[in-house]
Amino acid sequence: MKGVHPMGTKKGAPETAGTTSGKTICGAEGCKHTDWKFSFCQEHYEQFKFGLIKKDGKVVSDYEKKFEHYQAFKSRVAQKAA
Ligand SMILES: [Zn+2]
Repeated sequence: MKGVHPMGTKKGAPETAGTTSGKTICGAEGCKHTDWKFSFCQEHYEQFKFGLIKKDGKVVSDYEKKFEHYQAFKSRVAQKAA
C-alpha cells in the first residue's frame, strides 16, 4: 500500500532569538582585544578596577604612578600563585 501523506503541517517554529552580542573590542586606547567585561579585556578591566583607566578607555593623569602599584600588586598575586 502506497500513499503516505505527510500531513504534519508544522506551524512556524519560533526562531530562537539568541542574544546577538555584537563583537566589540576592548575600549582601552590602542587595545584590540575582544570585549571581555564592561567593554574591556581582562587586562584592561583590571586596570579599570584599579583606577588606571577611565570608563571611556582613557588613561588617568597619574597613570604611570598607579601602574607601578598595579604591577606590584600583580606580581604579588603571581608570586602567591606560583
Ligand atoms: Zn584591552
